[in-house]
Amino acid sequence: RAKLQQRAGHCYFSRSMGVEIRERVRMMHALRSGFQRGELFLDYQPQIDLATNRAIGAEALLRWRQQDGKLVPPDRFIPIAEYSGLIVEIGEWVLREACTELLRLRAAGHTAFTMSVNVSQVQLRHPHFLDMLRRALDDTGAPPDFIELEITESMAMEEPAALVEKLAHVKRTGVSIAIDDFGTGFSSLSHLQRLQVDRLKIDRTFVTEITGSARGSSIAQMVVQLGRNLGLSVIAEGVEDERQAQILRELGCPLAQGYLYSRPLSPENLLAWLAGESVTRAA
Ligand code: C2E
Ligand code: MG
Ligand code: MG
Ligand code: MG
Repeated sequence: RAKLQQRAGHCYFSRSMGVEIRERVRMMHALRSGFQRGELFLDYQPQIDLATNRAIGAEALLRWRQQDGKLVPPDRFIPIAEYSGLIVEIGEWVLREACTELLRLRAAGHTAFTMSVNVSQVQLRHPHFLDMLRRALDDTGAPPDFIELEITESMAMEEPAALVEKLAHVKRTGVSIAIDDFGTGFSSLSHLQRLQVDRLKIDRTFVTEITGSARGSSIAQMVVQLGRNLGLSVIAEGVEDERQAQILRELGCPLAQGYLYSRPLSPENLLAWLAGESVTRAA
């Protein structure tokens, strides 16, 4: 009987896997042609200095609007872009687009503004990653000191030696490095130091828990402390209400981003938001 159930389970698994693979292949083709047709674009979420409540930079977030107008969330299509290798090309486009947007913001007077760009592990592992980065900087003329690459904590823990070497080269271009979704992995202190990381991003799950109890805020508190001890910048992601912001300020967290301040915005709306921000502050 157990055997039968096992076999039945196995059959069911294979069939759903077939559907799953077919769906992925379909999506991969749609993504490739959508990318070529210009269906991908970037939104920008402001990052805020908790002491002054002013924007200090933005994170570029990839969007895919299909021909029928349907918006596909990045959590659905980025794994497919990675799986198919398409992320290498798409990621290069993202970086160049974000560099160009940074220059537009600077031209509009936001000269201290930074731009954070998410980098996939498939991209980072690619043998031409550094050339790609240098070319994007050269061709666009974007100032590297105002650009940050976000790699996830799980990526930061992989293949230490090769990664340390690669990130050292990244740092030599002037571009800085943030660890995204920090607190979800198990990176060691010494490893973080060897990676020459500049900033830790407290994962949203720990920001959500922060108002619950002392225990709920302990991870956020630990990351802030860690940042202070290592001399790293710290930003809390997914801040949705003023209570969370207040606790983060009390913990000494310097930076935040989240719906409390702004959803990710189109380039036009980001500029308007920044203009409005200075108007309200001046008033
Ligand atoms: P992430 O880099 O950790 O980005 C933060 C995600 O949290 C974004 O979702 C953002 O819209 C969302 N978020 C921001 N503030 C809040 C908030 O207050 N509440 C809630 N509930 N969510 C908030 P998004 O844009 O759907 O991106 C999801 C993930 O997709 C990103 O996580 C990142 O891992 C990946 N991604 C996005 N753009 C790119 C890209 O250009 N390249 C690569 N490789 N990955 C990307
Ligand atoms: Mg990110
Ligand atoms: Mg994140
Ligand atoms: Mg996250």
